[in-house]
Amino acid sequence: MKDQELKMSALDAYLNRVYKIIILMSPMAAMMAAITFTIFKIIGWYEVVSTAAIIIFDFTNLIYLSIAIYLFRTCIGPDGLLRKDKLKIGKIFISSIILIQWNFISYMVPAREFWAYAFFFIVLAVFFFDMKMITVVAGGIVISIIVSWYINGENLMMIPEYYYFLPDLILRIICIILTTSTLFALTYFGGKFLVEELEKYVNYDTLTHLLNRRSMDNYLQAAYQNAKTRRTTFCLMMIDIDDFKKVNDTYGHDCGDEVLKFVSGVVSKEVGKKDSVFRWGGEEILVLINADEEKAVEIAERIRIEISKDHVNYRDEVNVSITVTIGISPYRSNFTIQSMMDDADQKLYYGKRHGKNRVVIQLPEDL
Ligand code: GH3
Ligand code: MG
Ligand code: MG
Repeated sequence: MKDQELKMSALDAYLNRVYKIIILMSPMAAMMAAITFTIFKIIGWYEVVSTAAIIIFDFTNLIYLSIAIYLFRTCIGPDGLLRKDKLKIGKIFISSIILIQWNFISYMVPAREFWAYAFFFIVLAVFFFDMKMITVVAGGIVISIIVSWYINGENLMMIPEYYYFLPDLILRIICIILTTSTLFALTYFGGKFLVEELEKYVNYDTLTHLLNRRSMDNYLQAAYQNAKTRRTTFCLMMIDIDDFKKVNDTYGHDCGDEVLKFVSGVVSKEVGKKDSVFRWGGEEILVLINADEEKAVEIAERIRIEISKDHVNYRDEVNVSITVTIGISPYRSNFTIQSMMDDADQKLYYGKRHGKNRVVIQLPEDL
């Protein structure tokens, strides 16, 4: 396995594969229709279809295939992940193929029950688990079917004089309702249970339920861009549990885990709704505070005091008292995210060297 693939989340890997497969499978399925109708025309079954229509149809299918190959070859970014813009273009492309192809065939070929294939036209799109996309595509197809019944009425025996008009119509409508509701159900449950679950594992740490390091970059970049363009401010807060190794060594790793959950819980409770808490390393927590230095110090002090005054009760056997040391780096226009992280880290370690259980906002050389 490639190094990049190892770093990829399950959701990234799923999207990478499913995108490539669907982007190629859709035009290939369309191409099958083109080949089939061309053969029907050549052997004389489709006398009523004009040669020009078949040629244009075959040609549009070649265009789909070329676009698909282009999208297939350019969809992966330098980080090995599917490019967000290509995903969007891919979805629009697939939706367009489905709708254009459907309408083209509906009016070109004399197949009477062609509408019954609607399910197979749409089902590939389900694998994106995108409710909006399925609504547009399924809605578009249903409208197209009804319009085509109206326009092609005579050929399809969709005329009130036809003996089976009403029962046929009712069965057709039931079939369309079943088809669309199956597609919506697949999209909804797939989205809810597959994508949402995968996303949870991708963005959150399973032990502490804090956001993980992987999702951190996006949050930090957004805060940084906001600060640069909209003149808002923010602070980074690095929190490290004091003498945590001793907790592990004395009471065991399970107890250490409980302590970690307790600290994470206190931090999450004390920060504001708009602030974000990340598990930065083993027992290091990074907090993005969307407020100024003064507010950040106030929050940090509250966290420090809350943690030191309480204790973790482990299996009703031991009470473990702990403290934390916190370094704070406020945003400065000449700082990058990296220099803010280094700054917070230096302050944290200054606090560690000077007695622990403290909040450090300034290093002596800054004074
Ligand atoms: P200091 O006060 O200088 O921070 O001392 P410390 O003992 O806390 O030292 P340090 O921050 O380097 O300790 C990190 C320890 O955290 C080492 C590792 O065993 C422990 N640790 C990291 N992740 C986990 C975890 O998920 N669970 C448990 N139980 N321990 C962890
Ligand atoms: Mg520590
Ligand atoms: Mg540490």
